[in-house]
Amino acid sequence: MAELHKPLTESWDCHVHFAYKDKVEGPRRPTTLEAFVIDMKKAGITRAAGNVWAALSPKDAAALKQANRDTLAAAMESQGFVIPVVMVNPHFPNESIDELKWARDNGIGMAGEICGYLIKHKYKGKGFTRLMEKAGEMDIAVLIHLWEPRQGAALARQFPGTRFIFPHFGARTHTDILEISDLAPFKNAMVDTSGTAVFRTGVPEHAIEALGAERVLFGTDYIIDEPVSTRVRTELACPDSRTLELVMRENLRKVCRIPPSQ
Ligand SMILES: [Zn+2]
Repeated sequence: MAELHKPLTESWDCHVHFAYKDKVEGPRRPTTLEAFVIDMKKAGITRAAGNVWAALSPKDAAALKQANRDTLAAAMESQGFVIPVVMVNPHFPNESIDELKWARDNGIGMAGEICGYLIKHKYKGKGFTRLMEKAGEMDIAVLIHLWEPRQGAALARQFPGTRFIFPHFGARTHTDILEISDLAPFKNAMVDTSGTAVFRTGVPEHAIEALGAERVLFGTDYIIDEPVSTRVRTELACPDSRTLELVMRENLRKVCRIPPSQ
């Protein structure tokens, strides 16, 4: 298998979506778990945290539950390559809280990616509040796609006991990326390096400086974005070997409670 660029350290991706039994929309996208794993390994990535594509916008609570069971099955089938992430959906808060309990019992340390723009939810209301609070109580970090960057600091402030990972540096586009600094006072706020902003001069470097290496996670948003370029760009932003290890792998290990022996 061709290796596109030799990794500087073992790289674990914190943010992926993959096909399993479900179809993935869009042209030229891998349609099987096997093809996903091959693509990732070719990009020098040795493990990836995420869930099945169908989890993103399930039509009802039963479909949400099934997607989570499929994710766990895919993780087993992938022999540890996939780190399972539980999906929750604020349209179904009670069932999602049941899913958090199921996740905790199965050793899963992360939930999401909640994509408000896909499920048409503005992250407001009693159900959402209860769901976020429960995630905090169960120490399950929530990967949540923001509507606008300032929402990151607002969520971190509203739910101080809940850890958040804001994908794409918490911003929508490269133009509002400097909002990263707003997250600095909130120790429960982390960002991942997926999205187009990672390719902007200085952006991942700024995230590491503003938040500290412990709060930046390597993520590709694979199936949306091509993984090798994101990996290389994230590696290049790490000023020393300790930062490299934290950002590329160890922060995710901690979130997902994976012991050092694995
Ligand atoms: Zn994503």
